[in-house]
Amino acid sequence: MILRIKKEAAKARFQNMKFFTEVRIMAYVISDDCIMCGACAAECPVGAISEGETKYQIDPDVCVECGACEATCPVGAPHPGE
Ligand code: SF4
Ligand code: SF4
Repeated sequence: MILRIKKEAAKARFQNMKFFTEVRIMAYVISDDCIMCGACAAECPVGAISEGETKYQIDPDVCVECGACEATCPVGAPHPGE
């Protein structure tokens, strides 16, 4: 019985770890190199990018870290956050 409980607890811990590994997404961010061309916003599949005061910005709650903005940007401003 105790062995079974320990086994279940270990399984639950593993599933929790797996869950956090799978959902842990680090949103992209846009550096000050942005020249505000808007190309990344047009390519973002989830509409996470919008025009800010001095550069475009990424909503970290929306970004799915697909990398499309990084691939599109002419100056390499978008990059994975840390
Ligand atoms: S990484 Fe993908 S989802 Fe995130 S802002 Fe860039 S294009 Fe949008
Ligand atoms: S593609 Fe690059 S330069 Fe253009 S708005 Fe996006 S981050 Fe800025």
